[in-house]
Amino acid sequence: MSNESINKFQNAVTRATAAIGVKASVFVGSAKLKTQIGTLKNEIEKLSLDLGKNIFRLWNEGKVDRELIDEKCTAIKKKYENINKLNTEIEKLEREEANIMGVKTKQKVPELGKKPLFSCPNCNETYDTPVKFCRKCGTKI
Ligand SMILES: [Zn+2]
Repeated sequence: MSNESINKFQNAVTRATAAIGVKASVFVGSAKLKTQIGTLKNEIEKLSLDLGKNIFRLWNEGKVDRELIDEKCTAIKKKYENINKLNTEIEKLEREEANIMGVKTKQKVPELGKKPLFSCPNCNETYDTPVKFCRKCGTKI
C-alpha cells in the first residue's frame, strides 16, 4: 500500500466514524425532542379540557370570568409555541444530519438472496456478470 492510499484509507475511516457519531447524537437528540412534544401535547389536552369545563360552569352560572379564560388560553398558547420551537429544532437536527452524512456514506446494499459473482480486489465493487476491468476503479479482475 502506498502512503497515499494509506492516507486515503485513514481519511475514509475518520469520515465514517464521524458520520456514525453524528447519526447517533442526532437520533438521541430528536428522540428527546419528540418526547418533549408528546408531553406538551398531553398537557394541552388537559388544559383544554379544564378550560372547557370552566367555561361551561361560568356560562351555567351566568357569569363569564374573562381573566380566568385569558390565563388558561395563554398557558395553552405557550405550549403550542414550545411545540413549534421543538419542531424547528428537530428539522434543524435532521438537516444537519443530512449535510454531514452527505452522499459519501451512501452504500450499495446488495439485494437479499442475490449473491454477487465477481468482486473487485481493489475497491470491493461487486458484479453479477463477469467483467475484465472494474468499472469503478479500473483494476483488472
Ligand atoms: Zn474496483
